[in-house]
Amino acid sequence: MKEVLGSHSGVMPGPVVGRFAPSPSGPLHFGSLVAALGSCLSARSQGGQWLLRIEDVDVPRSVPGAAEGILRTLEHFGFEWDGPVVWQSQRTAVYREAFERLKAGAHLFPCACTRKEMADSALARDGTRRYPGTCRDGLAPGRVPRAWRLRVPPGGVVFDDAVQGRVVEDVLADVGDFVLLRADGLFAYQLAVVVDDGEAGVTEVVRGADLLDSTPRQILLQRLLGLPQPAYAHLPVAANAAGEKLSKQTLARAVEGMAPAALLVEVLDFLGQAPPSGLAESGLPAVWAWSLANWAPARIPRLRLAPAPAHV
Ligand code: GLU
Repeated sequence: MKEVLGSHSGVMPGPVVGRFAPSPSGPLHFGSLVAALGSCLSARSQGGQWLLRIEDVDVPRSVPGAAEGILRTLEHFGFEWDGPVVWQSQRTAVYREAFERLKAGAHLFPCACTRKEMADSALARDGTRRYPGTCRDGLAPGRVPRAWRLRVPPGGVVFDDAVQGRVVEDVLADVGDFVLLRADGLFAYQLAVVVDDGEAGVTEVVRGADLLDSTPRQILLQRLLGLPQPAYAHLPVAANAAGEKLSKQTLARAVEGMAPAALLVEVLDFLGQAPPSGLAESGLPAVWAWSLANWAPARIPRLRLAPAPAHV
């Protein structure tokens, strides 16, 4: 029997809705193609919808033209998404409404701490600074609020990831109260992603394991906002020969212009799907047909980082 995601959510199984949510900080590379194909095949192989969202909430980090390049590249590789593309940069009012709801529920507090003032605090697992709770019980006299943070409840968050297994995190101990409205006036990724997935009715989040550490924070926000918790599957992240995650910073090659059928077959191989030899030569439609008919989530390697093919 085929393994499916979303079968353990405890609610009546409804239509599957997956999504791909790239940040337009640069062109699509092999690593982003892994998340695109994995999320698409998971949803489509269950007869579900697959949505596309451009995560340009972090306007300063968005590269002009990158989003259009990503859409063009996805089309070139034969991806077809449902409905219109959602752009986070156009959704500030929706994030504000969720923010105000959390604020009205006394889940938020203003924070005056600068990055410099927090430079001595412990590092969280994802490399950011753990918030020491300085402004949690009110601002010291004369201090000016800069950002708004979530008052994180104590205790562990537990979820079962379809690839990585059981994940447990004490968000308060490991991360601390995290920022929802940044000092530059922008809403944080953690809030935007939860609001967007909730509104779109996303039932499964399939993405790179570099985001595994964000998931407990997102689950906390789902609970506080009364949103259902999607199923999660965190795929291995593609690494270069030096063992670094492929990214713009590590100079990953853009996949635009590479032969789509051959590259998709390499992504299938990376995801443990054992594509038959000669599949790439049979053309892009054949690669898609094989992928949809043979997608086997149980074969995905349970790794957070895995070597990408040498030429990408
Ligand atoms: N925008 C994020 C990224 O490109 C992905 C967020 C998500 O899939 O939740 O890394």
